[in-house]
Amino acid sequence: MQKYDVIIIGAGVAGLYAAMNIPVAKKVLVICKDIPWECNTFYAQGGIVTALDDNDVPAHVEDTMAAGAYHNVKKVVEILSKTSLETTKDIIQKGMVFDTDATGKLLYTKEAAHSAARIIHAGGDATGRYLHYFMMSKNPHHLEQNMLVYDLLIDDGRCYGIKATVNYEPKTLYADNVIIASGGVGSLYEYNTNSRTVSADIHGICVEKGIALQDMEFMQFHPTVFVDTPLARKLLLTEALRGEGAHVVDDEGKRFLFEYDERGELASRDIVSRGIFDYKRKTGKKVYLDLSMFQPKQFHQRFPNITKTFEAQGYKLPQDRVPISPAFHYANGGIACNSYGVVPGIKGLYVVGEAARTGVHGANRLASNSLLEGMVFAKRAVDYMLSQENHNTKMPKFDKDYGNILHKDNDKAYKHQLRKIMWEEIGIIRTTKGLHHAKNFIYDLKNREIGRLLQLRLNTASAIVDAALLRKESLGTHYIENEEQDI
Ligand SMILES: Cc1cc2nc3c(=O)[nH]c(=O)nc-3n(C[C@H](O)[C@H](O)[C@H](O)COP(=O)(O)OP(=O)(O)OC[C@H]3O[C@@H](n4cnc5c(N)ncnc54)[C@H](O)[C@@H]3O)c2cc1C
Repeated sequence: MQKYDVIIIGAGVAGLYAAMNIPVAKKVLVICKDIPWECNTFYAQGGIVTALDDNDVPAHVEDTMAAGAYHNVKKVVEILSKTSLETTKDIIQKGMVFDTDATGKLLYTKEAAHSAARIIHAGGDATGRYLHYFMMSKNPHHLEQNMLVYDLLIDDGRCYGIKATVNYEPKTLYADNVIIASGGVGSLYEYNTNSRTVSADIHGICVEKGIALQDMEFMQFHPTVFVDTPLARKLLLTEALRGEGAHVVDDEGKRFLFEYDERGELASRDIVSRGIFDYKRKTGKKVYLDLSMFQPKQFHQRFPNITKTFEAQGYKLPQDRVPISPAFHYANGGIACNSYGVVPGIKGLYVVGEAARTGVHGANRLASNSLLEGMVFAKRAVDYMLSQENHNTKMPKFDKDYGNILHKDNDKAYKHQLRKIMWEEIGIIRTTKGLHHAKNFIYDLKNREIGRLLQLRLNTASAIVDAALLRKESLGTHYIENEEQDI
């Protein structure tokens, strides 16, 4: 029987930075369900926040809290910002290359709702790709791809390992410690910017085991996404474009966002998303991202990834304006944990990265805080875990297995229906009536002949709708319309 010191579920920024901080002497297994670069980390564009120096920490904390509608846990936001200084230094020292000017000084950009230019980037707009490649090359532990975790071995307040399919074969793997770094919930939504691997399986397992999810009503929608593509993953136009001057306009070129917030394009994501959604609905007009103020040469240098991606879609940037819509982007809420990633009540279980609800983001994430959160709290979790000397002396049997019923015949059609209802009823603007409709729909699906993985998605969808129903007032990304008329 195999037993590991640590199993890490996920090979994005959080899982890989955790792995980088565990000594080689430990027996560690890093798992990802597909090819390693199919993760949200790889697709990140804009960059990584770093406080500029100690003096900038209070301003970064305040920007994060203001974007999060002050629903954030301030102590944890302070940890994020203070630790950013050593984290950035650490990855640069280990070989991560960020964009610099001709003299070798880091280039900083500004994104919406930041009061200073404090975002560093790599490869222009390919920060995620560069960061992922760098971390894959620095991971000293074994990484197993195409391994899908479908259960956690939990008994009497302790985690003993996982169940997973390895090349479609069900396997039980024991470990003293399990770190969940499985990302967010993007695949639950019809329009989303996320990798196909990010489908809330582990959140669903937690719901089943009675492990709390928190702040699940706060789902973030990115305002500028090109959704006119048959691909499941819709194409993001980074916030840095607006930060550096791009305009959001209607068919006639009117910049209507000032009707919603005096900061116009630079208001926080929830406000801009709602503004675009509402304006489209109210006027029936199309909305575009206008990039024509950029010089082509500079634009191609600064945003090479976007230039190429949109060229393949038939757009010549920055000359052509791009039709945009908001789309699901990021889970502010997640599996509840403390600031060391410890999952309360379950010994040997940790959660880091987008899967975790640390309290950093509150009701709405400030742009480019998540890659940083993934690193800062992964390292804290690992440092704490290594200080604990947690050894499972027993290896109890876990007989219940779902390995051969992960999928059933109608799952694909049901998943599609689920995605549609999540987008329509638990999306940017919610109504109590719509939330009840979604809740009933999810309940009905749960009682059909479905496979294990759809069951797990439905568990997570239930947690989102229940949290949204509990919060009667609008806050951050949770926006309830016409409450009185609906009740
Ligand atoms: C298009 C896009 C652009 C973004 N741009 C930025 C940006 O500029 N700056 C910023 O800070 N943030 C950005 N974000 C957000 C940020 O990229 C993510 O929040 C962050 O990368 C999440 O990292 P993670 O390690 O938690 O998860 P991910 O990188 O999503 O990795 C999840 C891992 O878990 C694995 N996994 C999931 N389920 C299972 C399972 N059941 N079994 C086995 N393995 C599993 C996956 O295979 C994957 O390896 C962006 C996100 C997107 C989608």
